[in-house]
Amino acid sequence: MNLPVNTNFAEQVKAIPGAEKLMMCFSCGTCTSKCMIQEKLEPNYNPRRLIRETVFNFEETAFTDETTWLCTACDLCYPACPQKIHISAVITAVKQLAFEQGRQNPNQTAKVVEATCVACGLCESVCPYQAIKLVEKKVPFRGMITVASVDQGKCMACGMCTAACRSDSIRLNQDFNDNEILGSLWGWLESEAA
Ligand code: SF4
Ligand code: SF4
Ligand code: SF4
Repeated sequence: MNLPVNTNFAEQVKAIPGAEKLMMCFSCGTCTSKCMIQEKLEPNYNPRRLIRETVFNFEETAFTDETTWLCTACDLCYPACPQKIHISAVITAVKQLAFEQGRQNPNQTAKVVEATCVACGLCESVCPYQAIKLVEKKVPFRGMITVASVDQGKCMACGMCTAACRSDSIRLNQDFNDNEILGSLWGWLESEAA
């Protein structure tokens, strides 16, 4: 099977600050072995594979790889890489190019209901991925106001903001109620303690 190739893809990724060392990867797999996402959440997750796809210009494959969309930029892998490649920066660069081409984050990322957001900042303070900022913008029927805004490139759809918001103004596409979110958090904490 011939995979679609953009012959400039690796160069485009490398040109984004942080991703300069892309071509130094010798595919040892240490990053994959250090990654909690791969170990705890998604066995198909594989930063080593994503770096190979990028080096060999398989743009479409990289854009549709789960690894592009599930990296939390925790940087557990970074100090372990013998080539000192900032892996999360490479992954973020791939994601940035995907957005520039009009791709959407396949995760069910949070959306703000601007008609009711009161800009209290609770969501911003609880978001573990710093994905929310309060911004000034023109909102239909409300004029120029401050509202919460979600960076789709950073949101990991954890649901903390939806649980925190008192005016139900930030939601996931696939909505969970507060008890379901707290239940899943407790489940995760218990599995960590076991
Ligand atoms: S640890 Fe570094 S050199 Fe090894 S596969 Fe990952 S990015 Fe490549
Ligand atoms: S930065 Fe991304 S690839 Fe590296 S360990 Fe964290 S989640 Fe995994
Ligand atoms: S769902 Fe989680 S990661 Fe996304 S904006 Fe809300 S708190 Fe942040």
